Amino acid sequence: MAEHLSPLALDTLAAGLPVEPAASSHLAGCAECRVRLEALKAERAALLQAPRFKALLTQLEPKTAAPRTLPRWAPVLIALAAALLVVVGTRFLPRDDGTTLKGQQTVELLKDGQTPVTQAHVGDKLTIAVGGAGQRAVAAFTVDDRGEVLELLPSTPIAAGAQVPVGKVFEVTPGGALAVFACFGDHPLPMASLRSEIFRYAMRPKKTPLDAEPPPGCAKTRLEVLP
Ligand SMILES: [Zn+2]
Repeated sequence: MAEHLSPLALDTLAAGLPVEPAASSHLAGCAECRVRLEALKAERAALLQAPRFKALLTQLEPKTAAPRTLPRWAPVLIALAAALLVVVGTRFLPRDDGTTLKGQQTVELLKDGQTPVTQAHVGDKLTIAVGGAGQRAVAAFTVDDRGEVLELLPSTPIAAGAQVPVGKVFEVTPGGALAVFACFGDHPLPMASLRSEIFRYAMRPKKTPLDAEPPPGCAKTRLEVLP
């Protein structure tokens, strides 16, 4: 009998993300892991009742021009937001060998699809553009001035290039400043582990969590929201 599912695999499943076939088949045959997964899901469902999550998720919200895609996205986003409180401080970040990455990964926010910005007005349309430096997938997270980490972009395959647009168009909504972290690796990226790693970095002593260094394998940019 194979080993029980790792906490990472359980987090991934509870967030509704794909896992390796071996993990799926283990789950199908293991009552104990199914119980652990159900407990994790219940924990997250309870967290989602906290009004705080609902307020935070409006800070940068996917543009509603493509309503068909929103229902597919939104539950995962909310589930992963809830995952933050569940996994904080309890996970290590699996990493192939972050020290041998070639080149420099980059992330930028583009206004109207072309101009890199670090300030934007409420109502501006922004897209994420990244340079993967040879890595094949990216995921992005926002960090606010309290250190709250939210998923902005799920694990997404990327093309080669220095400034490749990924994901949807976001509309800037009222709020303070945000740091945006893009993390690179193989698809699918371990979202729950990346989230807790970014949180760990954001909580290191700095002026504010917005000044946090990006973890290895991640790049960072900032956005000041102007009225
Ligand atoms: Zn098991």
